[in-house]
Amino acid sequence: MTDPNHPALHPDRLFAAEPTTRAIARRLYSEVRALPIISPHGHTDPRWFAANEPFRDPASLLLTPDHYITRMLYSQGVRLEALGVEPNGERHAPPAPQTIWRTFAAHYHLFRGTPTRLWLDWVLAEVFSADCPLTSANAEQTYERICERLATPAFRPRALFERFGLEVLATTESPLDSLEHHAALRASGWPGRVISAYRPDPVVDPETPGFVTHLEQLGTLTGIDPFSWRGYLAAHRARRAFFASLGATSTDHGHPTARTEDLTERDAEALFERTVRAARRGDLSAADGELFRAQMLTEMARMSLEDGLVMQIHPGSWRNHNAPLYRRFGANIGADIPTPTDYVAALRPLLNRFGNEPALTLIVFTLDESSYSRELAPLAGHYPALRLGPAWWFHDSPEGLLRFREQTTETAGFYNTVGFNDDTRAFFSIPARHDVARRIDCRFLASLVAEHRLPEDEALQVARDLAYRLPKEAYRL
Ligand SMILES: [Zn+2]
Repeated sequence: MTDPNHPALHPDRLFAAEPTTRAIARRLYSEVRALPIISPHGHTDPRWFAANEPFRDPASLLLTPDHYITRMLYSQGVRLEALGVEPNGERHAPPAPQTIWRTFAAHYHLFRGTPTRLWLDWVLAEVFSADCPLTSANAEQTYERICERLATPAFRPRALFERFGLEVLATTESPLDSLEHHAALRASGWPGRVISAYRPDPVVDPETPGFVTHLEQLGTLTGIDPFSWRGYLAAHRARRAFFASLGATSTDHGHPTARTEDLTERDAEALFERTVRAARRGDLSAADGELFRAQMLTEMARMSLEDGLVMQIHPGSWRNHNAPLYRRFGANIGADIPTPTDYVAALRPLLNRFGNEPALTLIVFTLDESSYSRELAPLAGHYPALRLGPAWWFHDSPEGLLRFREQTTETAGFYNTVGFNDDTRAFFSIPARHDVARRIDCRFLASLVAEHRLPEDEALQVARDLAYRLPKEAYRL
C-alpha cells in the first residue's frame, strides 16, 4: 500500500542509517508490523463506535481536538478561535472547517521533526491516500478527498476499527459516567472490543471544582451515602464493579504528584471528614488536598487487590498552566506542562503496604525522564507489583521511546515494562503511533543484536512480546 518512494513514508523510516543494524531492524519489524493492536489506555469517544455514524469533517476530526496541534500553532501566534476552539460562554461564530484546514496547512512546516508530523503524514497517506506533506497548494484538494472518503461506509468508526487491526481499545471514563455507549456497544452484537477504564479523579481529587457535587452524584448513582468514609469507599467499590461488568480491566489516576500515604483507618476517616467539610466551605488546604489524593491511591491499590483491576498512575503534569487561557477556553488546549516528579519517597507508603503482592499490577508513568534510570527502573526492577508504563505524552516520540529503552532496560529489563500505550483522542493516528513504537523497539533491539549482546532469535521474541503479549498480559486483556 505504501509507495516505497514516498518521501514521508519510507519503509526504513526511524531505523538506524547504519546498514548492519538497519538490516536487522528490518527483519525484526517485518515480523511484528502486522500484529494486532492492543490499545489498553486512551481517550477516544465510545459514542463513535456505539453510534457508528460518519465522522463529520476533516477539521473537527483531525485538528480542533488535538492539543498537540493547537499548542504548536498557538505558540506561533495562531489564535485558538482560528482552529475552531470555542471560548466558554462567548458568542463567537467558529470559522468554516475549510478555513481551519487552510490555516493548518499554511503552518504544516511547524511540525517538521516532531512526532505529530509522522502521525499526520501517515494518516494522510495511508488512511486517506492523499498527498503529503500537506501544503497550502494541495490543502483544498486534500480537504475534498478526506470529505469524500469520510462519507463512505469504509470510513465509519467500526469499519476503521477493523481495518486498523485493533484487537482491543480502552477508553477512559469518570465514575460519574453512565457508560451508556459501552452498554450499547455490548448489546449491539458488533464483535469489536471497546472497553472503559475507571478514572476517578473528579471524585478523588478534592481540589477539583465541584468536588462535593460530584460526591452527591456518586451517591445518587450508587444508592450509597458517600458522605461517610466507609460509604465513600463502598461507592467506589460499586462503581468499579459496574465498570468491570462492562469489560473494564484497569483504573487510571492522573494526579499532580505520585505521592501515596498509608494512614490508619481512624486517621483516614478524620481526613475524609475534614476534607469534605473544607471543600463545602471552599477553604481546603493544599496540604490536605494532597494528603487525601495520596491516601486514595493506597485505597485504590487495596481495591485493585480485591477486584483485580490493574492500576495506572499518571503523575507529573501541571494542568492548565496558562491561567488566562484556561479561564477563556477550559481544559485540554495544550497548556499542560511536565514537572519534576519524585517516585522513591512518594510511592513508598503504597509499595510498603501492597508492593510485594504479585496479584497487584501497578503501572507507573512519568513525564520526568530524569526519573527513568534513577528511580523508576530500580523500583520496577524490584517490587513484584510494579511495572513501568511506556514513554508518555511529550515522550512518546521516536527519541523519547528510544531514551525510555536506553535508560530502563539495563535495570528493569523488558519484562517489567508493558508495551506501548497510544493514550490518544486522535483515533485515526492510533496505528501510526503503534507503528512508531514498534519501529523504535526494533531499532533498539537491532543495536543489541549487532553488538552481540542478544541473539537475533531472542530479540525477535522480545519484539513480539513488546508489541503484543506484554500489554495484553499486563492489562489482563
Ligand atoms: Zn491518558
